[in-house]
Amino acid sequence: MRIVLLGPPGAGKGSLASLYDARLHIAHLSTGEIFRREMARRSLLGRRVQRYVTSGRLVPDRLVVEVMTARLDSRTLRKGFVLDGFPRTQGQADGCDRVLRRQGTPLDGAVYLRCPPLLLIRRLSGRRVCARCGANYNVRTMRPKRAGRCDRCDGSLTVRKDDQPETISRRLAVDRKAAAPLLAYYRRKRLLFQVDGAGSLETVYGRTLKLFRRNGWLTSARRS
Ligand code: AMP
Repeated sequence: MRIVLLGPPGAGKGSLASLYDARLHIAHLSTGEIFRREMARRSLLGRRVQRYVTSGRLVPDRLVVEVMTARLDSRTLRKGFVLDGFPRTQGQADGCDRVLRRQGTPLDGAVYLRCPPLLLIRRLSGRRVCARCGANYNVRTMRPKRAGRCDRCDGSLTVRKDDQPETISRRLAVDRKAAAPLLAYYRRKRLLFQVDGAGSLETVYGRTLKLFRRNGWLTSARRS
């Protein structure tokens, strides 16, 4: 299966993609995670993207496409992948298509998670992230066993810099502007599928699984 997961910040893309990885063994590639990891390492890439990521603005297309082209070329992704947070603009979608066409591995679909704005704000403001391993929690819906500590590695749980209230509003506004042309792009290519992103993670996971099965995408993931 080769899909892109689309949806505003807080729609649940990262949590769902982690579940596909754990349960269906489909590689999860998240631009946001790549950037945060590089920022933590203080690498050249991390330093180049830092001011965009911490302020909730989009990293320029050229840089994002360059980073993702290198990763999409990797042999480990030949079995399929879920792209999370990429592409975010039409320019990135073009870049993504170019690489996949060159490899002969076109997308099966672009899955858009629909979510009401109030729910997005609620989810983002309750999100906590492990400073050590990056695992996600939510103070309301996905609490860790011990308050403030990661279940997996006992790292401390923190609020992402870009989950501060004013940055959340900016990220949602940035996304609203970028999303419409991107959805139109995938609709034109007859690749767009919409799923209701409200509800618990398991509920939304179940909805997407039905979509994958209906389209035969999981069979092709096992075959390849
Ligand atoms: P995310 O974890 O997907 O919410 O991304 C966190 C931040 O990383 C975003 O607010 C952007 O600053 C940056 N970012 C992630 N993916 C992209 C992308 N495809 N294009 C531009 N910026 C991105």
